[in-house]
Amino acid sequence: MVQFTTDEECARTLDRNDSLSFRDRFFIPASTIYLNGNSLGLQSQDARQCVQKVLDEWKTLGIGGWLEGDPPWFYYAESLGATASRLVGALPQEVVATGTTTGNLHSLVGTFYTPHGRKTKILADELDFPTDVYALQSQIELKGFNPERDLILAPSRDGRFLDEHAIVELMTDEVALVCLSSVLYRSGQLLDIPYLTEEAHNRGITIGFDCSHSVGVVPHSFDEWGVDFAVWCSYKYLNGGPGSTAFLYVNRAHFQRKPALSGWFGNVKERQFDLSLEFEPASSAGGWQISSPSILSAAPLEGALAITLEAGIETIREKSLLMTSYLMYLVDEVLSGDPYNFNIGTPREPSRRGAHVALEHEEALRICEALRTRGVIPDFRPPNIIRVAPMPLYTTYHEIWQVVQYLKEIVDSREYEQFSTERKAVS
Ligand SMILES: *Cc1c(COP(=O)(O)O)cnc(C)c1O
Repeated sequence: MVQFTTDEECARTLDRNDSLSFRDRFFIPASTIYLNGNSLGLQSQDARQCVQKVLDEWKTLGIGGWLEGDPPWFYYAESLGATASRLVGALPQEVVATGTTTGNLHSLVGTFYTPHGRKTKILADELDFPTDVYALQSQIELKGFNPERDLILAPSRDGRFLDEHAIVELMTDEVALVCLSSVLYRSGQLLDIPYLTEEAHNRGITIGFDCSHSVGVVPHSFDEWGVDFAVWCSYKYLNGGPGSTAFLYVNRAHFQRKPALSGWFGNVKERQFDLSLEFEPASSAGGWQISSPSILSAAPLEGALAITLEAGIETIREKSLLMTSYLMYLVDEVLSGDPYNFNIGTPREPSRRGAHVALEHEEALRICEALRTRGVIPDFRPPNIIRVAPMPLYTTYHEIWQVVQYLKEIVDSREYEQFSTERKAVS
């Protein structure tokens, strides 16, 4: 275990001893310290080359790319799914790259939420990312039920964290489905997925997770844990680019289910081009595809996933925890107490946190702006959180040290006071 100190030399030493740096393979925006890879990961050379490759295939092969591309576009979604399955502890056919996160959530909740008798409710939580809650509300309405009554949002005692035992207590015989996020987007709390899954199954309840804030930086073992389904986006820790194709996982125990939102790309591939009016869903996660794959939005993933696998997900996790531990240590030492008054709103136990740290401060919005003018890119989440996400693949320990110095200077000089309290459209 490394003994941290607050001096700059400690950061230099940590960087020197770091054997996992893929920084040279990424394009780091000029003069910036980029700490926002939890919202949009950066572009890598590998991702860029794969986009270029697909553009060239389109240029030279036209429609021929569907079968002659490398890999053929017709199998691209399944092929990327098989690659990604290695990050989440699944079989190759249990994962597919398709659609968008919210769209996939609709499709899977539509499939797995089958209210009957007393079992009409979905259990989620009040700290969930809004889009997930919107999707659950509309799925409940589509089945003819009432979100006001049938959507249970497990409460948080302090607005930061959830207590898994309290969630389990809400798994009553009226609950048909549990749908939660692996990591809470504000506090960065990592839920105990195996425990929640086991307790749901003990009560005969289906359970699915949105792992947008954990895949690519935390190892998962979906099969071993017995999770029923999962969705995740690919533009955060997976560095797939803005709006890149998302992923879904369906446990093989459910391959015989009929997808709620059928489309021709979910058909058994060998017979898709028979163009029969009878839908014959593939017996794999691929059955939940709807449309022609967005090849250009999937292409960066080929390169981006290769980097993540090359680095190794366990190694990435280890470095991520060391980075967030170092950051929290520096905040405790340098920025807690008067006049700084930063508070850490992220679990201290490594097993209970994802990969970002929530710094709470009543002037969070304006301090974030002051950081931006110094070339630091974190993000702000209302009401009072600065999210700082060191990326194991490309952030340096020295950058973390530097940001803490900047925060100290920004408060010392009251530099943040010159900024407006108005928020921008995207933050
Ligand atoms: C990032 C994120 C999403 C993104 O949804 P899109 O459909 O890609 O816009 C959804 N849910 C959670 C929990 C996320 O963190």
